[in-house]
Parts: sequence; C-alpha cells; structure tokens
Amino acid sequence: MRDVSPWREPVPLDGAMGEPRARGRFGEYGGRYAPESLVEACREVDEAFREAWADPGFRGTLARLLAVHAGRPTPLTPARRLSEALGVQLYLKREDLTHTGSHKINNVLGQALLATRMGRRRLIAETGAGQHGVATATAAALLGLEATVFMGERDIERQALNVFRMRMLGAEVIPVTTGSRTLKDATSEAMRHWVGATGDSHYCIGSVVGPDPYPWMVREFQRIIGDEARVQCAAELRTGVPDYVVACVGGGSNAAGTFAGFADTPARLFGVEAEGGAGVARGRLGVLHGCRSLFLQDDDGQITQAHSIAAGLDYPGVGPEHAHLRDLGRARYVTVTDAEAVAAAVRLARTEGIVPALESAHALAWVIRAAGGGELPAGSTVMMTLSGRGDKDVSTLKELL
Ligand SMILES: *Cc1c(COP(=O)(O)O)cnc(C)c1O
Repeated sequence: MRDVSPWREPVPLDGAMGEPRARGRFGEYGGRYAPESLVEACREVDEAFREAWADPGFRGTLARLLAVHAGRPTPLTPARRLSEALGVQLYLKREDLTHTGSHKINNVLGQALLATRMGRRRLIAETGAGQHGVATATAAALLGLEATVFMGERDIERQALNVFRMRMLGAEVIPVTTGSRTLKDATSEAMRHWVGATGDSHYCIGSVVGPDPYPWMVREFQRIIGDEARVQCAAELRTGVPDYVVACVGGGSNAAGTFAGFADTPARLFGVEAEGGAGVARGRLGVLHGCRSLFLQDDDGQITQAHSIAAGLDYPGVGPEHAHLRDLGRARYVTVTDAEAVAAAVRLARTEGIVPALESAHALAWVIRAAGGGELPAGSTVMMTLSGRGDKDVSTLKELL
C-alpha cells in the first residue's frame, strides 16, 4: 500500500521514451551484461531490429499480421457503470480481446517476424505461467518456425493447461529443475541454451527486460497499445488526452507500450505493481538476466522470489526504462495487494461484463482505491490498459470466491 516513488508535476518529456542512450542505457539502468557470445548475438539482434524498424516493408507486414491474425486494433471501451460508481471517467484499452488473450502477442509477432528476416528457424523463450510461451508457440506455428520453451518444473505442475496448449501448437517444452524451478530459473536456462544456438535461433524475451536491445525493442513492439489508445482517446474524450494513464507492471511491457503513446503529453502515468513483486517500489539496484535494473534482493544481494496471485507479475525485477522513468519523475509506481486485485476482478466482471486477467485487475484495483481516496479527483479521465483476459485465472478465482 506504500507509495515510495518520488513525484513531480508531470511535464511532457519528448526525450523520455525515445531511443536508449549508447549501449542500451536508460539513465543508469539497462546495458548488456552477458557472456561474450551473447553480447555478439545481441548486437546482431540490435542491428537487425534497427534496420527492420526503419523498413516500411517490415512495418507493413507486421501491421497486417497484427490485424488479420491478432485482431488489432483493439477497442477502447468506456466502463460506464463502473465510472458512474467511482466518479471518474474510466476507459479500458482492450488487450484482452487480442488472439491468445493478452498483449504478449504484439511483441511475439514482432520478434518472430524479425527472426524470419534474420534467417533464424527457431524461437527460444522462457515462460512463467505459460502466457508468453503460448504466444511464442502461436507465432512460431504461424510463421513456420520451431519453438523451444523453457519452463520451471513447479510452473509446469501449476500450469498444466498452458503446457498442453504449447505442445498442441507444436512447441517443445523443456522443464527447468534448477533453483526455485520458476520463471527466474527458466530465463537463466533459456539464455544459457541460446549461447550454444545463436546461429540458428532467436531468443524471444517476453517483457521489457534482459540485455540491450530487448527492453527497447519489446517496448517498440508494444507501443501499438499506446499509439492506438492515443488516437482513440483523441476521438472519444472531450479533452483529447486523458488525465491519467494506468497499467499494471510485471516486467513492464504492457505499461511501457502504453506509456510510450502518452509520454509527450501532460497525462500522469501510473504503473501498478503487485505488493509481492514490486521491483520499482521495493527493488534495489542489481544485475540480472543481462540487465542493470531494480530487483528484489535480500541483505546479501541475492535475488529473492516474488509472490503474487497474478503469475505475470511474479517477476522479482522490473525493466530498466521503468526504473529510469521513476527517477525522472515522469511515471509513478504504486502497489496493490492480492486481495485488492481479486476484489477488483469481481467488480469489473459484475459492472462491465468483463473478467480481467488478475494482472490487469491490479491496475484496476489502484484506480478503484485512488478514486475512493480522492487521489483521482472526481471527473478525471482515466485510460487504463486491460492487459489480458481472465480465463487463465478462473481456477485460482474459484478457489477463493
Ligand atoms: C505477462 C502479463 C503481464 C505482465 O507483463 P508485462 O511485461 O509487465 O506487461 C500483465 N498482464 C498479462 C495479462 C500478462 O499475461
């Protein structure tokens, strides 16, 4: 419940959310902390991405895939009944309506297309709850690539349905038995595996984390969320730009993509973390998975395990750009508890007929709290990204309700 991030009056920052500085730096965060062979592989990805992103042909192909396969653009839905109850005007950017049910498909289609352009025939990915694994398996099937997905043994037990979905889509799922046998270990293992396979495989990271260029590249693939929402707000809102822009933060990709569309406006940007996975609010400077950022650590500097009811927020760190936006005071980061998120999920289901992913429910829980506590003044306009649908969470919810 504590809010520990500094706050300054938001100023439109054209410089914020542009390209990172040399060697992938966002302020003092980011970078490329990896073994020599991976530094070279990252350099190749960086070069290929820069070229592709400047190529209207690549952009056109990706835009078409996003339209005909993933169902973009996603709508901006006014949450009418909930808005009335809260006294603010809440709009939801509906990433839950994309193919496979979350924003992850935006990034994965971009990276899969890039892999094809680089002549790679296989995607390597890590996954926690399986959402990024399923999206990767989906994009691989669509483009005729192979997919190898690393997943902690404990997560495999907990997420049997997503493991089946990945295998159904033709992916190989490799159990990771080291460490806590969850996402952090699966990521380490995927990176190790990439070392021996950089010639024919692309490592498809699932959030704005990892070595440069991933934090920047993944944000660019996700900025479609913010860019679409910006145009939709301009058409829908009397003021054109919302007063507040809100998104949940695990590694931070849906939030980064959302914020990118509004960084140069006066909108106040809020990232909502899980109380037990609050990389920005509780993390300390460290290096993990090739990147310098904020991570949950014990007194010896060991990375500790995150705990959240929302599997997608169960990462012990946050992408480097969020740490930088926090330092700049351009975005503010807050936390909510599991219980608040569950209550928010139920409330959205019953007022708007939408069952959100528990990750997205965190963002909504903060909106509900802030509207009630006066932090969101009556009548403000709020644009919130609904990162995914709640189908994957119904068994968790069933246990609790
Ligand atoms: C993975 C996931 C998240 C968290 O990832 P970010 O990189 O922080 O966006 C949030 N919502 C859903 C639905 C997810 O699947």
